[in-house]
Amino acid sequence: MADSNNSVSNDEILLSVRHLKKSYGDHEVLRDISFDVPRGKVFVLLGPSGSGKSTLIRCLNGLETIQGGTISFKGEPIDGREKTWRRLRTEIGMVFQSYDLFPNLTVAQNILLGPTKVQKRPKDEVERQMDGLLADVQLSEYRDAYPRELSGGQKQRIAIVRALTMNPELMLFDEVTASLDPEMVREVLELMLGLAEHHMTMIVVTHEMEFARRVADTVLFLENGVILERQSGHDFFTHPETDRAKAFLESMA
Ligand code: ADP
Ligand code: MG
Repeated sequence: MADSNNSVSNDEILLSVRHLKKSYGDHEVLRDISFDVPRGKVFVLLGPSGSGKSTLIRCLNGLETIQGGTISFKGEPIDGREKTWRRLRTEIGMVFQSYDLFPNLTVAQNILLGPTKVQKRPKDEVERQMDGLLADVQLSEYRDAYPRELSGGQKQRIAIVRALTMNPELMLFDEVTASLDPEMVREVLELMLGLAEHHMTMIVVTHEMEFARRVADTVLFLENGVILERQSGHDFFTHPETDRAKAFLESMA
């Protein structure tokens, strides 16, 4: 796969982060983070626990205030107001480790909520799209089920379908398989691999190294809130540059 940091590439930059700083009180959690994500590419964020991966993902969805730097989406710097983020969250989808489906709503009601209430799209159009996506992930029969009737893997696939039904241009994934039983991990990863094949732009935090190796155009390796290493997926997994990244990969093997 091509290294998306190649300076001769003419790819459109979908997301651009410049000198991003985030702290909690005196604790600097992200320090001078800069990177560009071209449209259609998959970035995998790796790094030890506490290195700042979740905080970075949350900053990219406006869930954290930032103390410095800029985040630009489609060439426009984001002003940081909640109103702006509310609009952008329909274009930047996010799925977390914990299943965040509404327990009192059916699968279909969970999925339809954002597109019909926030995006104000016609219900029949959204339903057609939802039914297609549910069929793709082989969950059509659960359309009217409640989240409690679903396995963890099924819930995560529904959470992904729900995000996709908003037609996002960028998807953020933070350890979406971390609380799943091993036999359910694969069905979720396969859905994500399918998205990558369809050129969905994605930023993915994962502990699944085989998946990361397959899906990553670019790896950003974080430690202590800085990008210690930035490589194509292939190069990172075959010859990491830093001792820290080597030790990390060994610890994950
Ligand atoms: P990772 O996802 O890589 O494990 P996190 O982004 O969750 O790392 O955390 C990075 C650092 O920020 C850690 O030191 C963590 O303790 C700290 N941190 C995360 N969230 C908060 C918070 N809400 N308040 C204070 N410190 C936090
Ligand atoms: Mg985390």
